[in-house]
Amino acid sequence: MMVATRATLRSWFYRPWFLAMIAAVLSAALLIAGGMFVAMRQVEQNESQAMNAQGERFLARLEQLFGQLRESLDDLQAQPLRTCDDEMIATLQQVTFNYRFVYEAAYKDGARMCSNRPRQEGLTVVRPPDIKGPTYSYWLNTTTEPDENRAALMLGRGNFRVATSRGHLTDMVDLSPGSSLLVVLDHGKRAIPVLGKEQTWPPAEPWPPKARDALQITQSRLIYRMPTDNPEYQLVLITPRTGMHMPAIWWWVVPVCLILGAFVGFFVLLLVRQRQSLDAELHGAIRRGELQVLYQPIFDLDSRNCVGAEALLRWRRPDGTLTSPDLFIPMAENTGQIRQMTDFVLQRLLEQLGQLLRANPQLYISVNLAACDVMVPRIGQVMAKLLTLHRVAARQIAFEVTERGLIDVVVARENLQALRDVGHQVLIDDFGTGYCSLAYLQTLPVDCLKIDKAFIDALGHDAASSGVAPHIIHMAQALDLKVIAEGIEHEAQAVFLSSEGVKFGQGWLFAHALSAVQFIELITRGRRLAGRRLDDEA
Ligand code: C2E
Ligand code: MG
Ligand code: MG
Repeated sequence: MMVATRATLRSWFYRPWFLAMIAAVLSAALLIAGGMFVAMRQVEQNESQAMNAQGERFLARLEQLFGQLRESLDDLQAQPLRTCDDEMIATLQQVTFNYRFVYEAAYKDGARMCSNRPRQEGLTVVRPPDIKGPTYSYWLNTTTEPDENRAALMLGRGNFRVATSRGHLTDMVDLSPGSSLLVVLDHGKRAIPVLGKEQTWPPAEPWPPKARDALQITQSRLIYRMPTDNPEYQLVLITPRTGMHMPAIWWWVVPVCLILGAFVGFFVLLLVRQRQSLDAELHGAIRRGELQVLYQPIFDLDSRNCVGAEALLRWRRPDGTLTSPDLFIPMAENTGQIRQMTDFVLQRLLEQLGQLLRANPQLYISVNLAACDVMVPRIGQVMAKLLTLHRVAARQIAFEVTERGLIDVVVARENLQALRDVGHQVLIDDFGTGYCSLAYLQTLPVDCLKIDKAFIDALGHDAASSGVAPHIIHMAQALDLKVIAEGIEHEAQAVFLSSEGVKFGQGWLFAHALSAVQFIELITRGRRLAGRRLDDEA
């Protein structure tokens, strides 16, 4: 039952469209979530920017306002008149002319009140001041009527009163509906609105007392505490949050994310399909004779004589396309077909070159092994049979293993040692690209290092003596290992490597991978490739 379920699950999982759907949904969700996050941040940033700007403008205006109100009171206090007469009214009028923000000025003579605006009763409030300072008294929000001309703030000194009008506060800053400008008194305990409606105070949200930011953003509102120097009161602007209405871009973010998700899904579908079909195609490749073995000659760098070759697989598909081993070898390693392929290479190479090898006992062919070939002793057995059949000496076949193929060192070492015991050479391929350390290398039964093409490339056209290659070479020499340089493309590289003591090399400078016929021709004619290059048969 369990097994059956697991099998069904697995088969589902390998369905291309299923994988594609998952990829599409996941990527669309991820994109939308990302977009949402960015949009929210944007909204919050815009909100707080607007609030900060509004707060700063209010503060500037309030400072101006309070400044003028106080100064006008000082002026009134300084002049000698102390009775309500025409002269007093003229003085009060003069003050309102002198100070732009003073809308109304009054003098309280006993029970009588005289003002520059006799018909209005703005300054007749009799309630005690909201703030009583040593010099000035403050009345806040003296009217709640939405009349632009009614007083919003009143200041008193002695018997004089001056007031500003609501319009002076709101002409600068638009207070959005639901917002309030509060004056907070009694060390934050009491809040009186100067503009706007009353607000619950103190806010439920905790406010760190030493917070540096003037702006506090809570779930439902923005609270801007204006940095005033006055210890008696604090000015606070409160605005409800504009809510989560998204910026305009949001409306096309969602469809774009969905489309992108669909694209991702489509690509995954294509990839999985392609991979699966490649997989299926590879299955019969050997049987259908689509695999070929080519031989890339290896040269003595001093004498420029060919000493051997590396067997390289090629997959020519029925439609004529040539698939790179870098693509199909890893696939074959996954599906286990690689064993068949290694056997095929060994068999084909002895069929094609058996005679040549018998005739040239110094010549050798090296064969690439996959990780799984190294983990079991099978290769040794297969090889032994083929060598007897074709009467070729074991030392004429070398094996290349990559550092990746040596994961289980104990098993690998045993099998490699067995191969060496019968006379094969063992090479480490692509040396330097894996994790092989010097200490590790010392314990491995190998004869030779192949320096990876990447390090040879690093030598550049004029073979600057820098780079990793010299270090690898010296290390190999210290360990008494032979060195073969891979991927030599320029004469300068060959000369430099030779001067560093590298004896062997292969690369397009000397020859591409050749067909068996071409390789046999190269050897039998004893052709010296003095500067000449043989081209890839493929
Ligand atoms: P590798 O064993 O390191 O083989 C060397 C690769 O470098 C070959 O590519 C060869 O054609 C290429 N090469 C040689 N000289 C030059 C040069 O001067 N310039 C450039 N740019 N490239 C050069 P190829 O044949 O495509 O093989 C790629 C890899 O596939 C091989 O790397 C090897 O790891 C793997 N491979 C090939 N055939 C087999 C095989 O029969 N069995 C196994 N297990 N792996 C194989
Ligand atoms: Mg190789
Ligand atoms: Mg290599």
